[in-house]
Amino acid sequence: MSELSTMILDRIRDVPDYPQPGVMFKDITPLLADPVAMAAVVDELAGLDEVDKIVGIEARGFILAAPVAYRASAGFVPVRKKGKLPAATLEESYDLEYGSATIEVHRDAFTPGDRVLIVDDVLATGGTAEAAVELVRRAGGLVVGIAVLMELAFLKGRERLDGIPVHSLVIV
Ligand code: IMP
Repeated sequence: MSELSTMILDRIRDVPDYPQPGVMFKDITPLLADPVAMAAVVDELAGLDEVDKIVGIEARGFILAAPVAYRASAGFVPVRKKGKLPAATLEESYDLEYGSATIEVHRDAFTPGDRVLIVDDVLATGGTAEAAVELVRRAGGLVVGIAVLMELAFLKGRERLDGIPVHSLVIV
């Protein structure tokens, strides 16, 4: 395992039975609180691809995607839960590891052909990332990759993202 992966793994905390019994939640707040580890993560994610836009998925994805966009000299685009974006949107619904959700993006978020990296904290079943990919494509962007801090391999999310490079800084 790389030094960066170890640093991330050491700063992600397992919280049992959150948000509901039987779920082991991966809490990234210890990582966020460590400026050296965060800088290393942001630098790594910013160096993955040449992109025009970084998409962050609400809410933890925002925390990572905004500094990555700054570092990569790219624009930041929020993908938000339904009802939170003020202008005209596109929406996608999907199943979560626990429950279901609808996410949205502004219709005019991308210039046609924009190269886009989607950033989130955790890839679990892949439903969120798959819906985000669909949104970006429908809005005219070209998804060049998906980047997450941690991939939960046993949930096989990667299989739903066939053909899209998935960059996971840690795979458990
Ligand atoms: P998926 O759609 O099942 O891949 O779940 C991924 C989404 O749910 C991401 O937006 C994550 O932020 C969130 N998520 C799922 N499991 C966890 C977890 O253990 N820790 C933090 N976020 C999680």
